[in-house]
Amino acid sequence: MKLKFWGVRGSIPTPGKHTVIYGGNTPSVELRLDNGELIIFDAGTGIRNLGDYLISKGESIRTYILITHPHWDHIQGFPFFKPAFISGNEITIIGTDRDEIDLQHIIADQMKRIYFPIQLSELKALLHFRSIGEDEFEIFGAKVKTLYVNHPGFTVGYRIDYKGKSIVYISDNEPFDRGVAFHVTNFEPTVQKKFLAQTGDPNQRIVDFIRGADVFIHDATYTPEEYVDKVGWGHSHYLFTLHLADRAKVKQCVLFHHEPNRTDEQIDKILEKCQYEIKHNALQFECSAAYEGLEISW
Ligand SMILES: [Zn+2]
Repeated sequence: MKLKFWGVRGSIPTPGKHTVIYGGNTPSVELRLDNGELIIFDAGTGIRNLGDYLISKGESIRTYILITHPHWDHIQGFPFFKPAFISGNEITIIGTDRDEIDLQHIIADQMKRIYFPIQLSELKALLHFRSIGEDEFEIFGAKVKTLYVNHPGFTVGYRIDYKGKSIVYISDNEPFDRGVAFHVTNFEPTVQKKFLAQTGDPNQRIVDFIRGADVFIHDATYTPEEYVDKVGWGHSHYLFTLHLADRAKVKQCVLFHHEPNRTDEQIDKILEKCQYEIKHNALQFECSAAYEGLEISW
């Protein structure tokens, strides 16, 4: 399996001299199965460069785009994904509905004439939409599993298992705290109930989901100090990400969804702190911070 990161930044694109190393594009990650098939996690602005790269190779494209949730940073690159403009290509978008609007309209609405010159219905590729909740299904012979995570709206994490290899992608997720759950109003009650139904630590359902993953990509938006003022915003601090990785005995943990104001130097420092934690506590996994262009093969 092979991963390539095309967008690693959370919330909003952040071009500029302080983000040239890690990159300023919002989430999009390419996964190649061992059979060569292409799966894409999220359609943030990073998907534009991925699309250009795919076109430069001149192949017809058949792919699945797995959307964690429709906040802008995870869908705003799709209107600029050139393979969608080319007939003969086939793209299946997978993601969650909202009570008031289904997946297809969520994607189509950001391309309504008021926001964008080309409408979804004018795209030449064959487009399919598949709405999911917590599910298990197969694509390209790989087993895909989804889990609702702790982030406003119906946000899922994806786990893919293929011929004994595994990867988990959870771009946006906050530590679930039973006390906090009763005070926040922007989280889905249906999802909160799933966490509250867990005996003991409610985050155990996340740990069970990621258990033993070869590669674990997870939200590390905040430092522990920053998180104190951001409870209820739907994101994690890096120590929680390490904590999940340790409990689930993953092999490799990738810090993802960097805070928009975070400079390259600051991400370097966060990674150093994570390496220290790992060494100091004799944790048994590798850790890296996602940057645009990072490739992981296993
Ligand atoms: Zn996000």
